[in-house]
Amino acid sequence: MNKKLLLSHLNNAAAKDWRDWRWQFKNRVTRIETLETLLGKTALPNDGLKAVTSVYPLAITPYYLSLMQGNDIHDPIRAQCVPDPREISGDGNIPEDPLEEDSHMPVPKLVHRYADRCLAIMTETCATYCRHCNRKRFWSHSNHLSLKTRMHNMLRYIAEMPQIREVIISGGDPLILDDHILEYLLSSLKAIPHIDVLRIGSRVPVVMPMRITGELCRMLKRYRPLWFNTQFNHPSEITSESARACNMLQEAGIPVSNQSVLLQGINDSPEVMRNLLYGLQKISVRPYYLFHCDPAKGCLHFRTEPKASIALMEKIWQQCSGLCLPQYVLDVPGSAGKLPLNMLSGKIKNDLKNHQHFFDKFK
Ligand code: SF4
Repeated sequence: MNKKLLLSHLNNAAAKDWRDWRWQFKNRVTRIETLETLLGKTALPNDGLKAVTSVYPLAITPYYLSLMQGNDIHDPIRAQCVPDPREISGDGNIPEDPLEEDSHMPVPKLVHRYADRCLAIMTETCATYCRHCNRKRFWSHSNHLSLKTRMHNMLRYIAEMPQIREVIISGGDPLILDDHILEYLLSSLKAIPHIDVLRIGSRVPVVMPMRITGELCRMLKRYRPLWFNTQFNHPSEITSESARACNMLQEAGIPVSNQSVLLQGINDSPEVMRNLLYGLQKISVRPYYLFHCDPAKGCLHFRTEPKASIALMEKIWQQCSGLCLPQYVLDVPGSAGKLPLNMLSGKIKNDLKNHQHFFDKFK
């Protein structure tokens, strides 16, 4: 999508607005009618999309929309952010909360699945709503507690649990919050003696990279060790703007890792996956996890077939250097955690058998 066209559509906004994250957030495309104007009515499947957005809302930053190439229905950016009738056409028995996070919340929006760490869901809002999100059940749920009460409940619980050493701040997207709110949370967590490490999970470097400002980085730097995980799913998301955002975090001493989701028709070909991993390595972002898409309501059409996906990752494993390789995992409910899916197939097992003499030497 042409950036100039977007700017002129958005009330002839000035180019400097484009670089302002508040402007990007305020001007998110949230209505099907606006999408129709921008993409052309014929480019959208049908008017069933309004029924989709009444269940799972629409929000796309102008920046992320600008990464779309023309009106191709298979465009990888479009497939991640434009609603699809299949989101509401699935089996009614599919869980909304496949990882059973809701049953591991000792206080509202704090998920405590593993003894040594917990996940603080700070907001239900994101800069861009990813159609494959396994927490899309939150989008339409209004937040009954004020942010202040939510934070205080979380902080009190964490302070009373000495086994928790790491807190993952996520959402929704926590970086839609203002710096002073984030700083209040980070400083309060840092003041708890048993908290060693903080982690932020945010997709803003991909969908609204202008949110990573010098001021934000200077603030985050004060709360290291702080780890940052983001979610690039396709090489076309690696742009000069997203690379700059990651670089600013890295220059503040904050390691940036990537957690992709394997998505049907988006990144499930060896060529696209290889380019994504090479691209991440080029911007010094470590490919950390590749998640097999969860069986969440509204996301089934993104799920890939496990055998083919394992074969895909074997190919990648054989072609790419170790620094490019994420761990390919299936997240499962409860504390069992993330099951590695790499190296499970017969082919790899056979290859290993062929090298038995090598392993014998270690006996
Ligand atoms: S940014 Fe994260 S939480 Fe928000 S919609 Fe995308 S995947 Fe879901």
